[in-house]
Amino acid sequence: PPILEVKNVEKEYITHTSIFGKNNTFKAVNNVSFNVYEGETIGLVGESGCGKSTLGNAILQLDKATAGSIVYRGTDITQLATKEVRKLRKEIQLIFQDPYSSLNPRISVGNAILEPMKVHKLYKDDTERKEKVLELLERVGLDASHYNRYPHEFSGGQRQRIGIARTIALQPKLIICDESVSALDISVQAQVLNLLNELKENFGFTYIFISHDLAVVKYMSDQLIVMNKGKIEELGDADFIYSHPKSEYTYNL
Ligand code: ADP
Ligand code: ADP
Repeated sequence: PPILEVKNVEKEYITHTSIFGKNNTFKAVNNVSFNVYEGETIGLVGESGCGKSTLGNAILQLDKATAGSIVYRGTDITQLATKEVRKLRKEIQLIFQDPYSSLNPRISVGNAILEPMKVHKLYKDDTERKEKVLELLERVGLDASHYNRYPHEFSGGQRQRIGIARTIALQPKLIICDESVSALDISVQAQVLNLLNELKENFGFTYIFISHDLAVVKYMSDQLIVMNKGKIEELGDADFIYSHPKSEYTYNL
């Protein structure tokens, strides 16, 4: 069975409420359905504003879908209580565009990676957690000596590596990468993408890879979803879609 089943999901934003109490709404995600299988990378591509992040946030339960169901390993996670959502946070993780915005400038990178492990009661004690953090730093291509340094001492690419270490510290199953390399220089992008692929090989992650950048999505994905104005325009095997382009978006290849 799929690890994730997205069924007829919609997200409607209220854009304006009139003095008579009537709501104007806008459907940012419109009747979207797809399955994600364990170990695959499914690319989500489309123009800026087509609803990719909204859909990602709905899967992460950062924002509630207004219709449809999202079934993760047999459970409709749109129906979970807050406490259960917190547990789910360990399983489904996000790597976003700018980890700088989530890294507290006053917390060392080592402690930033250790803290979520502690919250989720992973490992026996802080000594063991610290050992894991050092392993993780090396795993993402950073020196263990970086443990006591602070986010501002690192380049964009290094910060993204720190963000990745922090994300995988919880040993998630499904990782949503939302424009994870979009803010980086092209050469650094390639390094981070290769790291993501390497980690997937090692730990068996499943990725939903969101980007407006077709070249990047093409490099990463097994399956591909092309979105346009909140709807799915094309969905299927990435190689097939690239060789039989239907949408304006994939024509540009
Ligand atoms: P993408 O990730 O593809 O760039 P988004 O999911 O961020 O697109 O946005 C989809 C659409 O929803 C856009 O038109 C955006 O302006 C709109 N939108 C996003 N968030 C909100 C919000 N909180 N309230 C109203 N409209 C929103
Ligand atoms: P070992 O079997 O010696 O733990 P692994 O290669 O499986 O070797 O793991 C190496 C390190 O990565 C260990 O510290 C482990 O805790 C951590 N690790 C294992 N599985 C995952 C995972 N799914 N996500 C992130 N880190 C993991």
